[in-house]
Amino acid sequence: MNFTVTAGHGAGDPGAVAKSGETEAALMTELRDDVAARLRAMGHQVKTDGAKWENWPLVRALKLIPQADVAIELHTNAFTNSTAGGVEVISLPQHREMARMLARRIAHTLEVPVRGAGGWIDQSASARGRLGFVNAGGLIVETFFISNPIELQRYLDRKLLVASAIAECLSPPQWGAT
Ligand SMILES: [Zn+2]
Repeated sequence: MNFTVTAGHGAGDPGAVAKSGETEAALMTELRDDVAARLRAMGHQVKTDGAKWENWPLVRALKLIPQADVAIELHTNAFTNSTAGGVEVISLPQHREMARMLARRIAHTLEVPVRGAGGWIDQSASARGRLGFVNAGGLIVETFFISNPIELQRYLDRKLLVASAIAECLSPPQWGAT
């Protein structure tokens, strides 16, 4: 299959910043590279929005979506209340089931709740308005709350497991294959 995996923000925009200094853009660029490497190891074609540690601006990343069977962009959520938490995936209705599967796998890995409708946020019901990446057919993964120190630490401890969960969700193993 052909996948596009991109990292939110970048090109000088750090995205959300944790009290402890970690930035959304850097964490999600690292996660993107790990997910892409795992998908390639499974035999898939993967386009990313930049070489290792590089993170193109959104307008350039958008061009990679129509070339892919599935396109995801990785973000972290943030809120003024540091106890807010959980994972959600924003998409158009036709990608609802994939959105929910991704959210559930990440929720299981990080032991955090799913938000929205079973992990899925319908873009039309989102307070974020119309996201270019979603309108172009992609899924936005809000992996966890970077503003929640407990979730951030758990993510840092388990980021390899999160990458594995995302890659396996996008490319389910062929059970029974030899
Ligand atoms: Zn973001």
